[in-house]
Amino acid sequence: MYPWLEPVQHRMQENFARSRFHHAQLLHGLEGVGKRELSRVLSEGLLCVNSTETLSSCGGCKSCMLIKAQNHPDLLYLSADSSSIGVDEIRTLNEFVFHSAQQGGNKVVVIEQIEKMTESAANALLKTLEEPAAKRYILMTCNDVSKVKATVLSRCNQVQVAITDKRVSQHWLAEQGISSSAYPWVDIFSEQPLLLSKWAQQEVISEVDYLWKVSHDIASISDINALETALAKDAYLLSVFARFLMQVIKQQLTVQHIGFVQFHNCTVQIEKYMSDHHRILGINKTLSLSNLVFGLQRVLKQD
Ligand SMILES: [Zn+2]
Repeated sequence: MYPWLEPVQHRMQENFARSRFHHAQLLHGLEGVGKRELSRVLSEGLLCVNSTETLSSCGGCKSCMLIKAQNHPDLLYLSADSSSIGVDEIRTLNEFVFHSAQQGGNKVVVIEQIEKMTESAANALLKTLEEPAAKRYILMTCNDVSKVKATVLSRCNQVQVAITDKRVSQHWLAEQGISSSAYPWVDIFSEQPLLLSKWAQQEVISEVDYLWKVSHDIASISDINALETALAKDAYLLSVFARFLMQVIKQQLTVQHIGFVQFHNCTVQIEKYMSDHHRILGINKTLSLSNLVFGLQRVLKQD
């Protein structure tokens, strides 16, 4: 369990002990804050036969062993690795919830990134959310609660998963060798520690570091190919680059190196680049990137 998740876990345990634990929980928060880990810990607590009141798991009972072996018949896990969650997956869920528990206790469904549910999938889920059967729990996660359908939202308990004390995640990151002394941009992501640790595992930290440097040198860089190669290593890096660029031009505005008109023009170019990027392919990608870089340079050089 990650230390910054403990406060929210304790709150949910308290609600459970007071019989105030809603059958449908929506855990929402930034990517990389630990929603998957929290839903894992909660489902263990709901299924452990020795934790009928405390919502914690003993780690040793048959249920806990089955979860460890990823083989618990009363736990259904719907992960949104594909681009959407369709109606077939929700029908599987409804069927799963309907049948009696094989271990005689609770049954738990985890659905990740429910903002990816199609319209018909959301409709298929409503009845199950609305008329909960006893001992059935649905744990949902999403990165962006504004993209979840209102009909779904109104039928579940929303739990915000956020880091209240950044020092806790910064300390944890430093233990993983990811500290602001090594990488000056780390604190920008201190509310998404698992994103940073994923980057470290996937060895894209050096690309992120490179993008940080390029963003700060944006007024003078000329090697578009090197930038493009770095961006191509992971789809997520593009939004990281945009975030860094925004940070840099905000800073330029603050120290009055640029005025509001220049700031606005830069913002428009960055947004245009981000929205174009998903539509265009091949050589046009390179063109679009050089348009961004040289466009920003033109604006930044204006007096
Ligand atoms: Zn147990």
